[in-house]
Amino acid sequence: STFQELGLNNDLLQAITDLGFIKPSEVQEKAIPILLDSEGDLVALAQTGTGKTAAFGFPMLEKIDANSRTTQGLILSPTRELCLQIANEMKQYGKYCKGLNVVAIYGGSSITEQSREVKRGAQIIVATPGRMKDMISRRLVDITKIQYSVLDEADEMLNMGFKEDITDILSHTPEDKSTWLFSATMPREVAAIAKNFMHNPQEITV
Ligand code: AMP
Repeated sequence: STFQELGLNNDLLQAITDLGFIKPSEVQEKAIPILLDSEGDLVALAQTGTGKTAAFGFPMLEKIDANSRTTQGLILSPTRELCLQIANEMKQYGKYCKGLNVVAIYGGSSITEQSREVKRGAQIIVATPGRMKDMISRRLVDITKIQYSVLDEADEMLNMGFKEDITDILSHTPEDKSTWLFSATMPREVAAIAKNFMHNPQEITV
């Protein structure tokens, strides 16, 4: 299939052409139609390198309102490097979405500067759990209007001991948001997160 057939808008299709992506990867082919068509939850078993960032990134970019400054999408990822990588990919994918601001929030860097960026209006925040929790408790970020949340590399985040932080962060988001969980493996702890925080998720495996 083609990206056009998956139902993506022209802003995204133009960015995809610029990047030289010829056709959707398997996880994109499976996830994108589900995420575009429903407001429900998704559990995706997928390794890194499969194109999973675009699999959740394209639908999120399609669904958020870039004309509003409200934070609508939250992507949690285990490390600073991944966080920056995802934020950069999202900026590239969304380069024709007028008004879009993607902000990365991670430890080991100035909280004041990150807070300033958030205040300028970030529709999408890509964050590591520790710094995110810190910024929430200091009221430097408002995630009470989040509509789409992604738990990326959920198994890695739990391995790194972020379960409490993730639970705390999600408790500040609306009950009726969509949650999209991506994980390379499905140990008991990840299944428990899916069970406790998600509602009848659709499941895909690549
Ligand atoms: P990810 O698994 O999200 O880390 O993506 C791995 C790499 O594949 C990234 O550098 C993406 O830019 C690239 N990529 C993602 N989707 C596609 C695609 N459909 N065609 C070609 N490259 C892609």
